Amino acid sequence: MPPLDLIDFDDLLSDEEREIRALTRRVADDRVRPFVAQWYEEGRVPVRELAVEFGKLGLLGMHLTGYGCAGASAVAYGLACHELEAADSGVRSLVSVQGSLAMYAIWKYGSEEQKQRWLPGMAAGELIGCFGLTEPDHGSDPANMSTRARRDGTDWVLNGGKMWITNAPVADVAVIWARTSDSVLGFAVPTDTPGFQAREIKHKMSLRASSTGEITLDDVRLPDGARLPDAAGLKAPLSCLTEARFGIIWGAMGAARDCLDTALSYATTREQFGRPIGGFQLTQAKLADMAVELQKGMLLALHLGRLRDSAGKLRPEQVSVGKLNNVREALLVARTCRTILGGNGISGEYPVMRHANNLESVLTYEGTSEIHQLVIGQKLTGLNAFAG
Ligand code: FAD
Repeated sequence: MPPLDLIDFDDLLSDEEREIRALTRRVADDRVRPFVAQWYEEGRVPVRELAVEFGKLGLLGMHLTGYGCAGASAVAYGLACHELEAADSGVRSLVSVQGSLAMYAIWKYGSEEQKQRWLPGMAAGELIGCFGLTEPDHGSDPANMSTRARRDGTDWVLNGGKMWITNAPVADVAVIWARTSDSVLGFAVPTDTPGFQAREIKHKMSLRASSTGEITLDDVRLPDGARLPDAAGLKAPLSCLTEARFGIIWGAMGAARDCLDTALSYATTREQFGRPIGGFQLTQAKLADMAVELQKGMLLALHLGRLRDSAGKLRPEQVSVGKLNNVREALLVARTCRTILGGNGISGEYPVMRHANNLESVLTYEGTSEIHQLVIGQKLTGLNAFAG
């Protein structure tokens, strides 16, 4: 039994699920862990190389079917996210944005031609996708987005800007959400279209091993064939977010697990006052509380995964329960582990501060913790508190 698996969680998984987990853990151990501290320090990540590696293992769009996708279960996809985020949240973000946001949007709402054009290459990691919903002035409230799509003959012309877009600086295709006079539409925009620009956002203190960009759309002219024909209204991008949030529920617990693993090993070897710091009751209380939260978070993730695999989808408030709890608790675990490592806790020699800093982004993106509280609050009370 792995030391952190106090409740025999592993027994709840099938052989196939354990196999996918082991495979992802191996690629994270070989291709990410040895290098990620340096990527983080330098604020760069080899997105293309990693995507090809992940593509070979079927990790990109792995829960989708057809077009070169693996057609795995929700639980298997969750376990892969868990292992990737145990290495780094930025690397898991690469996979989530590619598979659950960009690929899912095309898979669910695209034409057959769009699917054939983009999905096989994206599943193989040869083409990179991004998903542009957030804008500089509209984050939690995308309904008020400023980006506009205007009809011009048979073409569409896009103007506006998107902010904080993962993978944008390296993407081949950007799924862009834009408002018309009466709806919100999605477009699969080849990033070499004139008028499309993506600038890397520098000086991030979080998710540094992830490429994040600001997109400007300046009279970007597209044929009608670039419009996602089945996406009409804000429900379409929100359904993509539900997909990605599911992966985060599992992923955040991966970051927490890695922090706890690190703190546990540190606490049993680091001595103060002539004994290991793990022998002090105050340290044990922290370790015990964190281990309990990790088990609870994993059970919640598994429960939601099994629900999704049996019912086909989750209700938004179910996803909000998972995202709110697991990211919030993972961040608390990371910060508490940081204290156990003392001064070493702030060093890049250990992964803990990196995870803690990353989880600040994870707490904010894919719906902030406050937005998930509002989703749950509305379900409980029947009252909509979003607008005050
Ligand atoms: P705001 O919406 O301005 O919120 C600021 C604060 O106000 C928050 O605490 C929020 O909870 C609170 N708030 C807002 N409204 C309410 C309310 N009604 N009641 C109570 N509190 C409220 N977006 C994409 O489209 N694609 C991506 O790939 C992507 N990647 C990202 C990567 C990173 C590293 C980061 C940091 C962000 C990314 N985002 C992406 C954007 C992310 O989804 C937004 O940052 C997030 O939705 C919050 O929007 P905002 O930053 O504009 O904050």
